[in-house]
Amino acid sequence: MTRATYRFREHTIGPDRRPEAERTKAEMQCKPCGKGSEASEQFTDGTAWAVDHLKANPGHLEYRELIIRPYRFEPGDWQ
Ligand SMILES: [Zn+2]
Repeated sequence: MTRATYRFREHTIGPDRRPEAERTKAEMQCKPCGKGSEASEQFTDGTAWAVDHLKANPGHLEYRELIIRPYRFEPGDWQ
């Protein structure tokens, strides 16, 4: 049997604001049918997509905005 010693480290999670982090994006999704717009960094794009989607699908009245926001753990001190 192999024996191992482990060390533990505190981590703090928060929004990843590094330049190389994934960009924050939003996407509009139709609640009745589940179809969605392209994820975009321009948050207002979703409402334009919803207007077009409503014209093509008059009964689709409810939508949800999905936010893609990168988070990252920052390692702290070793315990
Ligand atoms: Zn729809």
